[in-house]
Amino acid sequence: MVEHAARELHHFYHLSRLALSTMTGSNQPSLFDNPDSASEVNADPVEFVYQRTDLATVEVRRSKRAKRNITAYRDNEKTVVTVPTRMAKRDIDAYVEELVTRLDDRDERLSSQKLLEQRARKLSLKYLDQDLFRTHSVPVTIRWVTNQNSRWGSCTPADGAIRLSHRMQRMPNFVIDSVIFHELIHLLITDHSPAFYELMQRYPEHEKAKAYLDGYSHAQQHFTAE
Ligand SMILES: [Zn+2]
Repeated sequence: MVEHAARELHHFYHLSRLALSTMTGSNQPSLFDNPDSASEVNADPVEFVYQRTDLATVEVRRSKRAKRNITAYRDNEKTVVTVPTRMAKRDIDAYVEELVTRLDDRDERLSSQKLLEQRARKLSLKYLDQDLFRTHSVPVTIRWVTNQNSRWGSCTPADGAIRLSHRMQRMPNFVIDSVIFHELIHLLITDHSPAFYELMQRYPEHEKAKAYLDGYSHAQQHFTAE
């Protein structure tokens, strides 16, 4: 029901902005937190506050400037939603649910993104004697993807993109690190030449990880065939 209502509303309003604040700072949610000192965006008075069961605070403000736009952003643990002045309360309820979920998803993605990058950086420094996130010719990105089912990792050196199959997410760290390291080397060496393996050998658990992945693939094939 709520979902239906929210979808219908999309015809009338669009979500103009989903901005995120950083995840640092005070973890203590506070109601009516210095509305005066706040930026232009949240200068509107707080209309009401949801205290959700997970204790995340959602402040709703009505804005004369927001004619058809609903905006939501994070202010530390607090979510601020700005809605048009005339929007009905029950419509807002539907939106708040949707917006908070979307912001949560995004926060989660960003944090796992950051962790991945940190891991890759460490590996790069430790075994390649350089931070490829700084030294590569184009900015390097690394992320989990769900649409990659035949390869554990892939890399496009030209645009610095490294993708890891989400199917590895529950595997031991040494396995994930081995795949990350494999893809990092591809930023430097595109093929699997002897030079590639020379660098790969620097990762001490390379053979062990390979055995793990081979075993996993073998078992998968074995068990899915009927
Ligand atoms: Zn490769």
